[in-house]
Amino acid sequence: MIVIETISIYKPKSLSDALEFLDKHAPDVKPIAGGTELLLLIRDKKIKPPKYLLDLNPLKKTLSYVKVEGGVVKIGALTSIYDLSQTILHSDKRYAGFVDVWEKFGTMALRFEATIGGNLNAATQYSDYITLLLAFDANVKLESVKGVRELKLSEYIVDKRKTALNPNELLVEVSFKEPPAESSSSFIKFDRREILIAGIVTEATYLHLEDDVIKDVRIAFDMVSGKRIPARAVKTEEFLRGKRFSSEVVEEAAEKILPSEMTRVTDWWATAEYRLEMSKVSLKRGLKLAYERIRGE
Ligand SMILES: Cc1cc2nc3c(=O)[nH]c(=O)nc-3n(C[C@H](O)[C@H](O)[C@H](O)COP(=O)(O)OP(=O)(O)OC[C@H]3O[C@@H](n4cnc5c(N)ncnc54)[C@H](O)[C@@H]3O)c2cc1C
Repeated sequence: MIVIETISIYKPKSLSDALEFLDKHAPDVKPIAGGTELLLLIRDKKIKPPKYLLDLNPLKKTLSYVKVEGGVVKIGALTSIYDLSQTILHSDKRYAGFVDVWEKFGTMALRFEATIGGNLNAATQYSDYITLLLAFDANVKLESVKGVRELKLSEYIVDKRKTALNPNELLVEVSFKEPPAESSSSFIKFDRREILIAGIVTEATYLHLEDDVIKDVRIAFDMVSGKRIPARAVKTEEFLRGKRFSSEVVEEAAEKILPSEMTRVTDWWATAEYRLEMSKVSLKRGLKLAYERIRGE
């Protein structure tokens, strides 16, 4: 006997309507944005089909934006990867890491559907915007009928496919402090192929220089401690902060400090040893790229 599961789809009229629907039906409801992750999970029976899908697309007018307000860069959760590419995030060297992510993100068709909010909530080591936004030290804004709360992105991503989102909440915005002029960023995604890749290693760098001294640096990888979620390489950051940028310093950070805090795992795609070696290479390339972008080289 073939059993076809039925899922009801609710199209909210406004954000408050969506939040009320969520509050009434949680946990039997799942928000859906682009559906490029969620529909596959349902199809492949990796999650139990929900009773309701809350279609977030009617909220695009409210929740799709990139704006800079009071020194804070704010990105609405429903902003698609394509829409990001039409903003300051793709034209100002400080945000160059966003262009790097775009260049290796899925396919062109996917970029029109996939959203930034969906990417963060997918919560896997393959969520490239989590890795990038950790390097920007981002915060997330969550909303429910009870109000709004803000969390650090690093606290929001708890484990693989597990976030700190309550079933009656929506992610509405991700934000980070506007970076200073003498700063830039980079994102490296390494795989055997160039397109449609999950990434054997991904790495994101944010670098702020003052007369060639590293005033601030943040480094994130798809995985640091062995947990299958992106995280910051904080010991490596601490080692680099305050030092004059040089190839010797970068070499020491990659060869000595990074391995002391990184635990890689072996799977079908690559061994832990190979991943660690490629993480060192990615760190060196990521730092060099961000440095060259600041210097306009
Ligand atoms: C062929 C292919 C290639 C891919 N390539 C890449 C890639 O290169 N890099 C990459 O990072 N990812 C990639 N992905 C994964 C996926 O496309 C991205 O994670 C995408 O950004 C998910 O966004 P979405 O809007 O489609 O999310 P959805 O599938 O709609 O949702 C994903 C999850 O987020 C939840 N959710 C969505 N929006 C909200 C919200 N506002 N509040 C609360 N919960 C919410 C949903 O309930 C669901 O649990 C790929 C997927 C495919 C199929």
